Amino acid sequence: MKKEETVRNFSIISHIDHGKSTLADRFLEVTGAISSQKMRPQFLDMMDLERERGITIRMQPVRMELDPKKMGIKINQKKVVLNLIDTPGHVDFSYEVSRSLAATEGAVLLVDATQGVQAQTLANLDLARKQGLVIIPVINKIDLEQANVEEVVKELANILETSEDNIIKISAKTGENVVGLIKAIIEKIPPPIEKEGPLRALIFDSEYDPYKGVVAYVRIMEGIVRNGQQIRLFASQIKAEVKEIGYFRPEFSSTNVLQSGEIGYIATGIKEPNKIRVGDTIMGIDLGIKPLPGYKEPQPMIFASLYPKNPDEFDILKTALLKLKLNDPSLTFEPETREALGRGFRCGFLGTLHVEIIAERLRREFGLELVISTPSVIYKLVDQKGEEKFIYGANDWPDFCQGLTIKEPWASLEIITPSRYMGKILDIFKDLRGSYIETRYISSERVVLLFDIPLAEIIANLYDKIKSVSQGYASMNYKVFDFRVGDLVKMEVLIAGEKEKAFSKIVPRERVYQEGRRLVRKIKDYLPPQQFSVAIQAAVGDNIIARETLKARRKDVTAPLYGGDYSRKKKLLEKQKRGKKKLKEKGKVRIPTKVFLEVFKG
Ligand code: GDP
Ligand code: MG
Repeated sequence: MKKEETVRNFSIISHIDHGKSTLADRFLEVTGAISSQKMRPQFLDMMDLERERGITIRMQPVRMELDPKKMGIKINQKKVVLNLIDTPGHVDFSYEVSRSLAATEGAVLLVDATQGVQAQTLANLDLARKQGLVIIPVINKIDLEQANVEEVVKELANILETSEDNIIKISAKTGENVVGLIKAIIEKIPPPIEKEGPLRALIFDSEYDPYKGVVAYVRIMEGIVRNGQQIRLFASQIKAEVKEIGYFRPEFSSTNVLQSGEIGYIATGIKEPNKIRVGDTIMGIDLGIKPLPGYKEPQPMIFASLYPKNPDEFDILKTALLKLKLNDPSLTFEPETREALGRGFRCGFLGTLHVEIIAERLRREFGLELVISTPSVIYKLVDQKGEEKFIYGANDWPDFCQGLTIKEPWASLEIITPSRYMGKILDIFKDLRGSYIETRYISSERVVLLFDIPLAEIIANLYDKIKSVSQGYASMNYKVFDFRVGDLVKMEVLIAGEKEKAFSKIVPRERVYQEGRRLVRKIKDYLPPQQFSVAIQAAVGDNIIARETLKARRKDVTAPLYGGDYSRKKKLLEKQKRGKKKLKEKGKVRIPTKVFLEVFKG
């Protein structure tokens, strides 16, 4: 690091909507990184999708510089560099948070003064503690009339086991006390330790640029990197020449060297997106250098199949997934084929919002229209010898289950709610599998409810149910901790006697009739009538558990006959009936894509 400057690297973490991106705006303003003409709310939410939905999906680093004297901060250096990383708040994106935290020495933990401590407050605090970061607790939105500052100060002091005086109160909207927060960051978060020696840079994110190739977002842990030098990626052992290095302001801004302790980017010129892995180490070309520990990649627990509506777009979909994976390393995919849908990919995700966001990005950024199957959890199949293997849904389910055991993922679920909604929330769980564990008090008015529950129950809209009974005040977080044996069966759908594999699903035995009826009814609602009547059946093994009949489309064959020639009319109708019977015997139903789209919506 240059002698006259000092660096602070920190992330902003919180529950969703507690004001991280808005606080980042104030930092950008106070430090002059963005001029007031260019400023727009949630500046660091760069994707259109983020702006429309008002949520942060990707972490975003930004470098700011300030003159400490002007702010009345007493330190020796002339310049302070703040490297801030804004993070997403939703549970599905917590891998983004943990990667950001690994690149920094401290974290600003924001809590909304009107909402108090929420599920992701606790979850993200836990991540920051595990990294050993300095935590700066901050209460935001103190400008609001309904702010409950004193109560929230108590809650936060309580969970952090710290004195109430250590909690900083701000308004990210009006800017009140943001300078005070900057002072605390500079005083409390240590500057990065500078390490000389051979280059080791941690890749915490990456993206694809058509001119620069793969651009790695890095934290330099040791040594320095120079423009034009030769580098090597440890995992793939690929060598490259640095095309450009620089800082995030927040757009790419080139420079000549990045030194130990700094956050910036390295453009590698590498054109194959699958050659770079987040968590990998960038080093010089000398051999014998050890990689950094990197990240433990999360195991996707939720799977859905993606098919292009236009079968010719399979290759476009493949390239698109590879590019998205660069900045969303938790996404996994394997090609698969279904007769009715063509070629597609079975993809792994971290949650249902994650599925939705990826589908939306594929549509917007790559112009792809997709058919997406209903997300399902991953299962484990255990054979007689006790050997386990993952299966990804009903179509990997063996026809003969004798001697085999099926296990499904279980999660520990944490719901934080004002105590007045406790009863209504507990009611939801009466219809779900799983078990209540205990209640903990954060304050006299706020409780944490703990459950152990199959992940499948969580992904079936549990979040929406909890939000709706608590008028939006309850929040939840979950973590898969185990696979447990489940009483599960494979339900299949027959249309005109033919199995339609894309509709197969795994359901708890106790809910099979209910699910079967719902599914056949839904297919009937969307399947267009055929020349003949069509049986839509749900089956478990050889047992039909539900059935609907879609009546034939009846062409009015008697229309040309005016008047009362009754016998001729009857004859024509009978002829039609015979014809239909024949059709029915040979009948094959082509299922339009729209039916899959509708049924998969759940
Ligand atoms: P994030 O999800 O944590 O990034 O939260 P955002 O920065 O997107 O803010 C969520 C909402 O809270 C937005 O509507 C902001 O305008 C609002 N907000 C953020 N900070 C404040 C604040 O200090 N006061 C008020 N009144 N609103 C705020
Ligand atoms: Mg945000």
